[in-house]
Amino acid sequence: MSGRTHARACPERTCVGCRERAAKHDLLRIVAVEGVCVPDHRGTLPGRGAYVHPASVCLDLAVRRRAFPRALRAQGPLDTADVRRVVEATAAQAAP
Ligand SMILES: [Zn+2]
Repeated sequence: MSGRTHARACPERTCVGCRERAAKHDLLRIVAVEGVCVPDHRGTLPGRGAYVHPASVCLDLAVRRRAFPRALRAQGPLDTADVRRVVEATAAQAAP
């Protein structure tokens, strides 16, 4: 983990997986585009965003409790394959 100590002015969001609050830039923003959860790395895509830790455990929790359709106000199920690919790539980078 990064040893960031000055986090006072940092916007916080709640992870839809583990429901813990974290700094916005430590979470991955997800936007629903035509039934697909799209990872929004730059935070620039329009529309509602859901935030999740870039970790498989949080993604699994979010998928299991259908947090993405709820958070993104989607009418049906959302495809999370793209998000999973990004999360797994991020996890691989973070591994020692
Ligand atoms: Zn989480």
